[in-house]
Amino acid sequence: MSVIAIDVGGTSMKGAIIAGGDVLETERRPTLRERGPDVVVDSILDFAADLKARAALKGGAPLAAGLALPGIVDDATGTAVRSANIGWENVPVRDLATARLGLPVAVAHDVRTGGVGEAAHGAGRDTSDFLFVPIGTGIAAALMINGAPYPGATSWSGEIGHIVVRPDGEPCACGARGCLETYASAASISRRYSALRVPVRASIGIWGTESPPPSGPHVPAEEVIARAESGDVLASRVWTEALDTLADALATATMMLDPSRIVIGGGLAEAGPRLFAPLAVRLAQRLPLRPPPPLVPAQLGTEAAVHGAAVLALHAAET
Ligand SMILES: [Zn+2]
Repeated sequence: MSVIAIDVGGTSMKGAIIAGGDVLETERRPTLRERGPDVVVDSILDFAADLKARAALKGGAPLAAGLALPGIVDDATGTAVRSANIGWENVPVRDLATARLGLPVAVAHDVRTGGVGEAAHGAGRDTSDFLFVPIGTGIAAALMINGAPYPGATSWSGEIGHIVVRPDGEPCACGARGCLETYASAASISRRYSALRVPVRASIGIWGTESPPPSGPHVPAEEVIARAESGDVLASRVWTEALDTLADALATATMMLDPSRIVIGGGLAEAGPRLFAPLAVRLAQRLPLRPPPPLVPAQLGTEAAVHGAAVLALHAAET
């Protein structure tokens, strides 16, 4: 018996029909956020209904649906509480989807859903307590405790990207200063390197200290890391600070949570040993009291949330 799963991202949605952990069919559609939150909700419901119809053609009606959503999500009530990116507020997505599909529906936060996916089929499958940290445009975490994601009292758990690692540091989009995300996300690594490469003359006297610096040519984070390794001084400065701040935040998380391992995913994890080796050294240096937890790469890549949504759909079908 199959379930349907959809991972809703800022620009596109990934849908799948999954049976027994095997992906039978996938499809990607635009999220249409530029057309407003109501259109986004309608396109999610249309996508789910189409997947349900196609699953039925493949061997019977699906058991349930799982939806992974961005922003702040109340997993217990299935409500999309808020997403600055999509612009919705307090949308009862689970109730709307249940009414539309006539199936049990699970709705959960995308990063926590990714943690569920890694727990079921990826780097966390032989442990019940771990931290899943995808690093991409932003940085967030899923706290997997006793095999389940811990959302926190008000669904705000895991916002590790907004831990202050450099007091009075660079301004962050959240309103604070010195957040991890402003130094170590793939987007920030790229942005900081591009800003440093602006000719010095252009950056003096024109831009006040509070103004965003002008940007040089865009260089993706992966290229910044490669340049750092080949001796580019500016790239090395940016990459070293990203590693240092990541280690600061992961050391804090380790002392707080004592995870069995830290599973790192997202685009930055594709740097492989160039990320994991120097980060492990720094993490150990910051934990004199205890051995560091192993840092391991996520195994499901961008498929983690869709697999997690399928697992949550099965749970919904059973309850
Ligand atoms: Zn922040």
